[in-house]
Amino acid sequence: MHMYDVITQKKNGLALSEEEIRFFVDGFTRGEIPDYQASALLMAICLQGMDEHETAVLTDAMLHSGDIADLSSIPGIKVDKHSTGGVGDKTSLVIGPIAAACGVPVAKMSGRGLGHTGGTIDKLEAIPGFQTALDPESFRSIVRSVGLSIIGQSGNIAPADKKLYALRDVTATVDSIPLIASSIMSKKLAAGSDAILLDVKTGSGAFMKTLDDSIALAQAMVSIGLSSGRRVMALVTDMDVPLGNAIGNALEVQEVVDTLLGKGPDDLTAMCLELASYMLLLAEAADTLDECRAMSKNAIANGSAFGKLCGMVEAQSGDVSVLKNGFPHAAVTVEYKAEHSGYIAHMDAESVGMASLALGAGRAKIEDSIDYSAGIVLKKKTGDYVSAGDEIALFFTSDKEKTKAAEATFAAAITMSPDPPQPTATIQAIISEK
Ligand code: URA
Repeated sequence: MHMYDVITQKKNGLALSEEEIRFFVDGFTRGEIPDYQASALLMAICLQGMDEHETAVLTDAMLHSGDIADLSSIPGIKVDKHSTGGVGDKTSLVIGPIAAACGVPVAKMSGRGLGHTGGTIDKLEAIPGFQTALDPESFRSIVRSVGLSIIGQSGNIAPADKKLYALRDVTATVDSIPLIASSIMSKKLAAGSDAILLDVKTGSGAFMKTLDDSIALAQAMVSIGLSSGRRVMALVTDMDVPLGNAIGNALEVQEVVDTLLGKGPDDLTAMCLELASYMLLLAEAADTLDECRAMSKNAIANGSAFGKLCGMVEAQSGDVSVLKNGFPHAAVTVEYKAEHSGYIAHMDAESVGMASLALGAGRAKIEDSIDYSAGIVLKKKTGDYVSAGDEIALFFTSDKEKTKAAEATFAAAITMSPDPPQPTATIQAIISEK
């Protein structure tokens, strides 16, 4: 078989055979197919697409390119959750503890943030001492004893995806639904859970800006799950506005604690209760979604979900006192005030994420270090009425120099109007295998 012929086939809009897809993934991972030929095929896939069968085979080839986690020693139906990434998206840290409190084991591998989006591992590392790199047996042992463990993705999970993603990043071939779906699902399937709940974000702060594209991505991922024999559901959720009020690592963990104690912002609480309920349903913790909703609410009301978060933090060597007594504040706080009166018609989530990044809360490049105390707490959001001089947000940073750039970026994120905007539903679509 020749790579030249595989590229020609896809360039001409024809489907690739299973043999051709495996030849490409295996050869590229072993370093036998050069980057220039892999790039040409990726571009052809971007332009011509892939059908369901091709996408499933591509996923399977990447999934088998490295280690596959073995969670069989953990009793019960293990459920994982994946979000396509957003601003202020700390839902994993709320719903993992809720699921664990309801008896559903959660063994989760998470990623770091890049660009305007945050990552769960960075948020957890805001807790002093918290270990995100555990050997597989310690990870499984914590899931067995506490019911919940979250670690960083081990180096040899889907190495083919790692190599292909790096190439896609520099060849303008990231934004292809079959390539994104297979990239995400190869890692999630290799992480070993029995069922997966996908939170596909849509809107200005999301990877997929339109609802149609987000639904198509969700459908592609659910259909990969189906062909791999795992249970997969996807919720398409709004990311036009940051989720909750806090953006930035320690600030977000504080908001997670507030939410688990029943004092979180309404939008975040509602979203987490819904996501957790679907996780419970996938794990067959109850027969109906309404029963799962009641269980999720109860896990917050009786404090058991907060107890699970503390249990995981202790087991992973983190300092639980910050969860109980609060995080130390950043050295510098600056109020951002409204210049004019009116409704906030739009608060562009991506730009708010960039403002938080400018304060030191994220990385522009993978090697950048993070100021865990930095970020933004929103006092007003889309739909709120503000009078001139009202506080819209509070900025936190260790470096006063950074506040000017953050203010300019934040100002550009806000559109004011004399009229209130139409409210948007937090959950915009539900995609399941049935
Ligand atoms: N996240 C991934 O893991 N892969 C993609 O292709 C895009 C987002």
